[in-house]
Formats: sequence, structure tokens, C-alpha cells
Amino acid sequence: MNAELRSRLESIVGPGLVYGPGEPVDGVRPTLAVRPGTQDEVSAVVRACAEAGAAMIPLGGGTSLGLGNPPARADVLVHLDRLDRVVEWDPANLCISAEAGMRLEALQALVAKDRTVLPLDPPGLRRVTLGGMVAANPSGPCRLQYGTVRDWVLGMRVVLPDGERIHCGGRVIKNVSGYDMNKLFIRSLGCLGIITEVTFKLLPMPARRAAVIGRFPDAATAWAVVGRTLASFLLPEALEFLNVEAAQLLGGPPGTCVLAVSLSGSSETVDRQVRDFTGFFQDGGGTADVLQEAAASRAWEGIRDLLEGAYDPILCRIAVPLSATPALVAAAEGMAREAGLKAVVTAHAATGVLRVLLAPGADPHPGEALMVLEGLRREAEAAEGSLVLEAAPRSLKARFDAWGTPPGGVDMMKRLKTEFDPLGICNPGRFVAGI
Ligand SMILES: Cc1cc2nc3c(=O)[nH]c(=O)nc-3n(C[C@H](O)[C@H](O)[C@H](O)COP(=O)(O)OP(=O)(O)OC[C@H]3O[C@@H](n4cnc5c(N)ncnc54)[C@H](O)[C@@H]3O)c2cc1C
Repeated sequence: MNAELRSRLESIVGPGLVYGPGEPVDGVRPTLAVRPGTQDEVSAVVRACAEAGAAMIPLGGGTSLGLGNPPARADVLVHLDRLDRVVEWDPANLCISAEAGMRLEALQALVAKDRTVLPLDPPGLRRVTLGGMVAANPSGPCRLQYGTVRDWVLGMRVVLPDGERIHCGGRVIKNVSGYDMNKLFIRSLGCLGIITEVTFKLLPMPARRAAVIGRFPDAATAWAVVGRTLASFLLPEALEFLNVEAAQLLGGPPGTCVLAVSLSGSSETVDRQVRDFTGFFQDGGGTADVLQEAAASRAWEGIRDLLEGAYDPILCRIAVPLSATPALVAAAEGMAREAGLKAVVTAHAATGVLRVLLAPGADPHPGEALMVLEGLRREAEAAEGSLVLEAAPRSLKARFDAWGTPPGGVDMMKRLKTEFDPLGICNPGRFVAGI
């Protein structure tokens, strides 16, 4: 199959754009890799793979390839990096359509020229591509005010696993009639097809930006301030908690945890909120450093990417109801300590999303890390939440399912997968319940 498929792929994309083996995906090395340059070429590549029964893995920026279970099969890696063009930019209607391989950072730089923003801040933003972002539906600290990817997608073009091209949603406004198919592809992790183009709505750029970074002697003091913030009428863009270990990574005095808020809006709104938060932090027993504009953006970049690039990480993401967040942070710290590990924890303090990095994360500690992850998953699920493994060595993944207890409706998800991908060749095995 390989030689025949290789020459068919070369006839579609041209020589030099097919090679093998491809880069490993979560430890599994695809036999071939291909770099189509247009949406038509993606469709022809997918059709060729389908006809050969070859399993495909779409690749964006590669920031999130540890998310999910390792691929059950991997024949062809489909790089989307050459699909990086803007298709249509309509500033008057605050929307933009671009190809899936374009970097989020490049799109944000472009729309900033018109004083507009796409207010998404996933970790690893510099490398994240639009298609990968939609496929993985990540969120960063600004989720508090702006929601997640699914709140900003108006439409998309997708190549289905048999090569057929479809268009969901619309451009300009959200003009869905019938089922909202966009939602099906968002967070489908490339299991239902390859996203080739996405249309986003945009926002006018806020006039000002500032941040208040507070340091607190212990977690209880910081969480009391979070409670006070949630009970107030203030709405920061982001409210992030960093435990002592995470705060240490960010620099600053040892033995303190951090609470940080990001603020944007009109000059008056920002000034007012800076005053209020400075007061909250100091009255609550902490310190408050105010950062403006570029300094504020740099600080948020540091917080957003704090856990990125950790060597051989064991990294999980926990989502729980807001009220359970402080207890989960404490549980992570306690369980890690008992196992002889450290838990570096960051939490979107007002949305109930935590990320826990277990350090040291490499193979010498698989048993201990497994114990901590199992304990944390039990706690999260008891609070009606979930724990998803974002990255871990293969040895650990073999003993701990990345997704946890299958969600309700999993049989329907399996039927949908079979309907879209009867040959089971699109990112097989990576998703929930081995889909
Ligand atoms: C250190 C780190 C921390 C992270 N923290 C968080 C976090 O806190 N919260 C969170 O929500 N996310 C988090 N993520 C996830 C990450 O930010 C997103 O998943 C990212 O947007 C993926 O973009 P990418 O271009 O790198 O995609 P890739 O990593 O290349 O691909 C991601 C998945 O999408 C598939 N895919 C890629 N392109 C396409 C396409 N065009 N069509 C269909 N499928 C495609 C791939 O096969 C793969 O399954 C984190 C990632 C890292 C590395």
C-alpha cells in the first residue's frame, strides 16, 4: 500500500511534499506525511487515503498532540501548515475567514491592524493553528469573559473522511438553519474530518488593558478574595490562581501564591477596576502590583504559558463546579506530597478549570503519578466534574485512560463516528471511549 499511496499522494501535492516516516504522534510514528497546499488538495489526499484504507492524523501546530489516547493506527500524517491564507476579511461586519493551518497569533496580529480582536488565549498561542484550536476547543484564562472557541466560530469548511467537502454555518452572522454542525466538529479532535477553513467573529479592541497581580501568604487567603470578587459586580477578563509551586515558576518571593486579574475596557472602567481589585487584594491580606498595557500583556502571556514546554510532563486538566475548586487544588497538593511528587497548579478561579502538572514527571515515577491521577479523578468525578489527561508518558497512558468515565450519550457518539467515518480512518482511537 505504501509505495502506491505515496505515489498517488505525490501526484496530488507534488514531489518533495510527501515523505516518510512522519513525526511521531503521542509515540506512534505514521508511515507517511503529506503537506497539501489547498483545500482541494486536502480533499484529494483524504480521498486517496480512504481508497487505500489508510488511517490519517491531521496536524496543526502540534501543541496538543499528547491530548487523548495514543492513536490506534497511524498511516498518514496530514500537515495543514501550507493552508495559512486569509480567505476573506470583512472588517465592516467584524468577521474573518482563514485557512485551518494559519497560526492564531498571525490572525490576531492581522486583525489588530483594524483595532479588532479575536479574544481567545489558549496555552501555546504562538504555535496554535486555527484548525487545531477548533478541533481541540482549548481555553485560556480569558475564558471567564469571552468563553471558548465555540463562542467565536460562525462557520467552517470540513473535508469528511471520504474526501467530500462540506460547509457548515455561515460567514458574517450565525445563520444556521437545521442542526448546528459547527458544534459537532468543535472539540471532535479530528475524528470526524479535517477542518480546512474557519470563519470567526471579532470584537472591537478595548481602549485600555491592565493587570493586578496579588501575592498571598496561603491558598485560603487567596480563595477568600476570589469569593469576594465573585460576589461583587466586577467582571475581569480573567481571574487566575497559582499555587505556591506555580507562583515560584513565575518568579517572585517563595512561599506565596498568586491571584491575578486581567482587566480591559474603557479607560474609566479599567481605572475603577484597578482601584477595586487593589483594595480587595490588600484588604484580604495580600499585596497588589498594578501593570499597564504591554507589561500587563507580558504578565498574562507568562501565566497562560506557565505549564507549556515542561519536560516530559504529566499534565491533566480538571473541570469542576466553582465551589469545588479550592478543595481540588488542596487535594492535588496533598496527594502529590504523599506520593513524593510536587503538584504545580493553575486554576481559572472563576470558571472551575484547573491544570495540574506533576513534577518530576518522567518515567521514574509512573506508579506514584498513577496513584495521584486516579485519586484526583475520583475526587473530580465525585464533584460531578472530570479529569482529562493532556500529556503523559506512554507507560502511564497504557494504565490510565485519558478521558475517564465515558460521558452520557457515548453510544450515540460511536454511531455518529461510524456514520461519518465508516472505515474508522480519521484519527482512530484517540477520542473518548476509544472512538
Ligand atoms: C502545554 C499545553 C497546555 C495546554 N493547556 C490547555 C488548557 O489549559 N486548556 C485547553 O483547553 N487546552 C490546552 N491545551 C491545548 C492546546 O492549546 C490546543 O489544543 C491547541 O489549540 C491545539 O492547536 P494545534 O494547532 O497545536 O493542534 P495540534 O496539536 O496539531 O492538533 C490537536 C488535535 O486536533 C487535530 N487537528 C489538528 N488540526 C486539525 C484540522 N485542521 N482539522 C481537524 N483536526 C485537526 C489533531 O489531529 C489533534 O488531535 C494545551 C496544550 C499544551 C501543549
